[in-house]
Amino acid sequence: MDVTIRIPRAAEEIIDKLNRHGFEAYVVGGCVRDALLGREPGDWDITTSAKPEQVKAVFGRTIDTGIQHGTVTLLRGRCGYEVTTYRIDGEYEDGRHPKSVEFTSELVEDLKRRDFTMNAMAYNHISGLVDVFGGQQDMKERLIRCVGRAEDRFTEDALRILRALRFAAQLDFEIEAETEAAVRRLAPNLVHVSKERIQMELTKLLLSDHPDQIRRVFDCGAAPYVSETFVKISPENISVSPHLPARKSLRWAAFLRHQDAAEAKQILRELKLDNDTISAAGELVEWWRKPLGETQAELRQVMSRMTPELFDDLILLKTEAAGYDRIPETRADLARIQADAAQIRARGDCISLKTLAVSGDDLIAAGMKPGKEMGAVLSRLLRLVLEHPEKNTKEELMKTIPGPDSR
Ligand code: ATP
Ligand code: MG
Repeated sequence: MDVTIRIPRAAEEIIDKLNRHGFEAYVVGGCVRDALLGREPGDWDITTSAKPEQVKAVFGRTIDTGIQHGTVTLLRGRCGYEVTTYRIDGEYEDGRHPKSVEFTSELVEDLKRRDFTMNAMAYNHISGLVDVFGGQQDMKERLIRCVGRAEDRFTEDALRILRALRFAAQLDFEIEAETEAAVRRLAPNLVHVSKERIQMELTKLLLSDHPDQIRRVFDCGAAPYVSETFVKISPENISVSPHLPARKSLRWAAFLRHQDAAEAKQILRELKLDNDTISAAGELVEWWRKPLGETQAELRQVMSRMTPELFDDLILLKTEAAGYDRIPETRADLARIQADAAQIRARGDCISLKTLAVSGDDLIAAGMKPGKEMGAVLSRLLRLVLEHPEKNTKEELMKTIPGPDSR
């Protein structure tokens, strides 16, 4: 049966122009897979028989993004289209990067180097779908299957093992039996893969619709090779709810919440997550088991310790965890707390030094020297207004400050 895929106009124009200059060109890989599955492709990659220099000559303005691997990028509007020459990956060094890449004039050779049958299809309006490894059939059966011998493919690049688990979670597919057996056998090869690449796959898995499937990293024996501290996680406790918004810090925190906060942060550092994510996830892991308090005054104390976004994520995490773990609050308590927090915000109660009615400058004007003592005074004033928001006026607060003579 003929398949039609709707391709963005810009990608179509790139393909047509290459054709007019005598080259073959197709959209390829993840975008074809996603389009066939009715998912919105993140990016549209183009594969062509033209060599990089020829692509540059045809288009003039191009960006060298991965020229040594045959990739140049064309900017069209706000989108970048990666155009990559058909290539055969040379021998792999330690399952890391191919030592060399060789350009070829055969599309099929290029498709062969790709990881899974569903990722090894190409399409253009002239030839239609090029599917030489049965990708469509596998997708129909919801199967992830390696192109060629799974053992060979995972030996070349062990990251593909985590890609298989990640796609299983994103697409809710099964891993085909031979591929699955090779996943288990070759998981130790992940030791050769960089932490950044590992992390990117795990993050995509956690952000997917089936984040719980992170458990398979443990089931298949890959955990010891993810990172030194990662292996300390006990898989029995893992539960990451798909109902949590797909934010990195929140999903990582949900996954790591049974570790102590220092250990959770250590794992995230080992995996080279960015500092903002490490710090937010660390805070969430630190706080989710702690009581938020009974009163609005106690709640303001907690809110004063974090950004509003982090506080909201904390409530989300607690609300999800309440379904699995023992935490100080019930879901009803949490709903009440959420309503209280909304009130606190709507009233504009002071919960940070930024909105304290007295600033450092005011204290200096009153004769205080900048330094430690001044910091302590500001903290004391903040504690006071967290307890008594109505006292957040300059007049009230200055009354509590001893004059220069008594200091
Ligand atoms: P995503 O939706 O995350 O972008 P993707 O399949 O498009 O998934 P990319 O990293 O964008 O993944 O890679 C594009 C294509 O390149 C893949 O579809 C696959 O054909 C090929 N590919 C990517 N990584 C590998 C790999 N490690 N081994 C073999 N082929 C790969
Ligand atoms: Mg992609």
